[in-house]
Amino acid sequence: MPGVLCGVDIGGTKCSIALIDEDGKVLDKIYTCAHVSESEEGMVSMVAGHVKEILQRNQMRQSDLPAIGVGCAGHIRHNDGVIITTSNLEGFNNYPLRDALQSHFEVPVILDNDANAQAYGEYKFGAGQGYNDMIFVTISTGIGAGIVINGKLYRGMTGTAGEFGHTIVEPDSELVCSCGNRGCLMACACGMALPYLFEKKLKEGKKTKLKMPSNFNISKINGQTLKKGLDMDDPLSKEVISDSAYYVGIGLYNLFQTLNPPLIVLGGGLTNWGEFYLERIKETFYDLARDMLFDPIEITLSDIVGDAGVIGAAALTLE
Ligand SMILES: [Zn+2]
Repeated sequence: MPGVLCGVDIGGTKCSIALIDEDGKVLDKIYTCAHVSESEEGMVSMVAGHVKEILQRNQMRQSDLPAIGVGCAGHIRHNDGVIITTSNLEGFNNYPLRDALQSHFEVPVILDNDANAQAYGEYKFGAGQGYNDMIFVTISTGIGAGIVINGKLYRGMTGTAGEFGHTIVEPDSELVCSCGNRGCLMACACGMALPYLFEKKLKEGKKTKLKMPSNFNISKINGQTLKKGLDMDDPLSKEVISDSAYYVGIGLYNLFQTLNPPLIVLGGGLTNWGEFYLERIKETFYDLARDMLFDPIEITLSDIVGDAGVIGAAALTLE
């Protein structure tokens, strides 16, 4: 099968191995959660076994692939393929994941951060097609970004460029980020902020249409809860979503002033809030950018639904 690519997406809860075609369509996929309980070596053998399995059942050989692309959450030093830190997988800090996987294959293994991988997938197969430069931002439990300049990922000195979630949007915020700083974008706007923002509004006396039994645990409020609220026109849910959008809008404005990209694509779980969310992000963005916007910028939601992580990982092999 000519033009087929192979990607591996290693996340904190799930791991996907897939073959995709030259249009970015998933041809076959193996999905597992079992990697989480494995040691470093155990996980590497498991992933390598699944790659070999998916090739075999599609009558392919390794040599049919240009490379194997791997996306993984965490700080990844791209040059030597080492996971520097990851909060998602226990024991994987300072782990040479690329070389460990490479020992199982003849074709090159390319490892990068999952947001970078998704950015490249978006550039090759999604909303970024036809652009030379673009930024992809993923908004879910955390926030990350990938920066494509002249058709290549911009990785910075270490490989950790695009850690957009740790840019600070509210230095005096009560919200402390997992990194220890106050007011990081991801502390204020993403999954980890939602229970706090929701509770704050309840304490201000705001009412919600969402069913809240007396034993309801506010810390369980997540993007899906608020999507339900949005769908039933719950004013409180809409306020929380608007607050998140406000901070993302500030973040995008900062990106715009720094890199002047023609396109910013938003993906990740919280973008399921759809047009309501996007419109509010844009409101803040355009308020701030005003007359400093000399050419139109496109801010849009990702059109890669579902398998963005593994499609992005496979796309890394085209860079
Ligand atoms: Zn932070």
